[in-house]
Amino acid sequence: MKPIDLRSDTVTRPTPAMRAAMMAAEVGDDVFGDDPTVNALQVRIAALLGKEAALFMPSGTQSNLCALMAHCQRGDEYLVGQGAHTYRYEGGGAAVMGSIQPQPLANQPDGTIRLEDIEAAIKPDDAHFARTRLLALENTFGGQVLPAAYVEAATSLAKRKGLATHLDGARLFNAAVASGVPARQLAAPFDTVSVCFSKGLGAPVGSALVGPKDFIARALRIRKMAGGGLRQAGILAAAALHALDHHVERLAEDHANARTLAAGLQGLPGVTVQLPQTNIVFIDLAPERAPGVVERLAEHGVLCTGLYRLRLVTHLDVQADDIQRAVAVLRQHL
Ligand SMILES: *Cc1c(COP(=O)(O)O)cnc(C)c1O
Repeated sequence: MKPIDLRSDTVTRPTPAMRAAMMAAEVGDDVFGDDPTVNALQVRIAALLGKEAALFMPSGTQSNLCALMAHCQRGDEYLVGQGAHTYRYEGGGAAVMGSIQPQPLANQPDGTIRLEDIEAAIKPDDAHFARTRLLALENTFGGQVLPAAYVEAATSLAKRKGLATHLDGARLFNAAVASGVPARQLAAPFDTVSVCFSKGLGAPVGSALVGPKDFIARALRIRKMAGGGLRQAGILAAAALHALDHHVERLAEDHANARTLAAGLQGLPGVTVQLPQTNIVFIDLAPERAPGVVERLAEHGVLCTGLYRLRLVTHLDVQADDIQRAVAVLRQHL
């Protein structure tokens, strides 16, 4: 029996319809700027997120790196959550490649960074300090939708203090579908936003960075430097366009599956499961239950990651009956 792969929403395979769209894509050389499918995607995603311009990127990591480097010069600093992807899970690229100093700040359980912490971390204009240039937030964060009032307050504070704002929106469409607020509105408080097509949207590859025209022009140069100038990238952009057409609304199914999964695990001794807002379920295990649990679940056909805190992610390739099967396995083997 095929394992139920809940390790990430990046494990999806392109659907036959997506492959057909990729096959049929009109292409050019995107480094010359003449791949019509890439250009169409860039126009579409910029409009969808309410920004002037967009750049198609190979990965979310590269989108974020190009964003940080286009916002900050060497010796500048960005404020970011301790648990944020751009700080924690991108190989330290901002520091390594951009000579940008991260100033990590505590993330609260809901993914926010306290306004007092942001304000206290902004350095005065003094030769002792790196120049604080940018506030970077993430939505969704650990599968949670950032509260709109918080986003408004944090970005207003940043603006008042002369900082630019970037949103890592790898799962912004999950946030939009879960909250019923259009992605464009979630993006509005930020100068720039990155989104991923290869997570819940089910494309094999791809991300986009959106923002003002002059910013995107700077990001284009950095993308080239980073080796992200792709040639007949329209084959990939076609998958992203297909995903925008067919895979956004259906994220609600992933969210419903995640809730069903979490609900099915309530009441197990030594197991704590919060009801998820989107497609990521965290299972906290009593310490004595944790060793070997991922391996044991894998033997019974359920793949996930973690140790004391397991992470299970629903997606396009997981159906409601898979969730029932997963619940049964988890109830027996956690
Ligand atoms: C996945 C992810 C990214 C980018 O990851 P890539 O694998 O490089 O596409 C960035 N931010 C968050 C929050 C993510 O989940």
